[in-house]
Amino acid sequence: MIEFKQVHKQYPDGLLALKDIDLQIDQGEYVAIIGLSGAGKSTLLRCVNRMHDISSGSLKVDDVEISTLRGKGIRQLRRSIGMIFQSFNLVTRISVMKNVLVSFVPGIPLWRKVLGVFTEQEKKQALIALDRVGILDKAFVRVDQLSGGQQQRVALARTLAQNPKIILADEPVASLDPVTANQVMGDFRRINQELHMTVIMNIHHVELALEYASRIIGIRAGEIVYDGRTEDVTDEI
Ligand code: ADP
Ligand code: ADP
Repeated sequence: MIEFKQVHKQYPDGLLALKDIDLQIDQGEYVAIIGLSGAGKSTLLRCVNRMHDISSGSLKVDDVEISTLRGKGIRQLRRSIGMIFQSFNLVTRISVMKNVLVSFVPGIPLWRKVLGVFTEQEKKQALIALDRVGILDKAFVRVDQLSGGQQQRVALARTLAQNPKIILADEPVASLDPVTANQVMGDFRRINQELHMTVIMNIHHVELALEYASRIIGIRAGEIVYDGRTEDVTDEI
């Protein structure tokens, strides 16, 4: 479903952030990308939804070469991919429910978002997503009244409501305490298993990666130095 072939990514200042990446990720995998800060994890993730462009090589999502996509094609690609960040990226002064609703993809027109006009079906979809991550009871609470873990679950629900095929998560638990981090990792696993969404996650906690992901990819200085099933991981990591 996602295929990197000899991908290089060089930033304008000359830094080669990804070198000769060959990688195939199938539908339904839960992949953890591990590596030190600066290894290239974010860059790799962000090439998949065209937040970054690759410099050379081929990158396919669902058999479509994405490096040559333009406006409409990129929008279509991003519709099928949910992105989760370390910093949640929520609108903190409005309710949980509204945060989920305003992000609906494909296309709720802007005027409806601004006026807060949503169909019963859309509201139902939002509530189902909130229920799935265990925060249905917080639907009408303002985001700034929630804990960090609850906020990350709102972000996850918002992504789920888009019904993406792929979820890209960039250090989603880095700012959470260990207990909450475990809960959120568990949410990702449940979503991966129950909804068959492909999850690709950058994470620097190796223990969490080993406990929850099904495949581990190690990156060092822009190169893949390890790739294996979680159950096969030995001390060599
Ligand atoms: P990680 O996510 O593993 O911490 P990144 O992908 O953020 O790594 O960064 C990989 C390398 O690319 C680092 O050396 C970083 O400084 C550099 N880098 C990241 N973004 C940019 C950018 N926009 N311009 C130039 N260099 C960048
Ligand atoms: P992250 O944890 O997401 O990798 P960073 O602190 O590394 O966060 O980077 C924050 C932002 O700055 C990112 O958008 C990244 O692309 C950009 N960035 C990182 N390193 C560089 C760099 N050397 N030059 C320019 N931009 C950079």
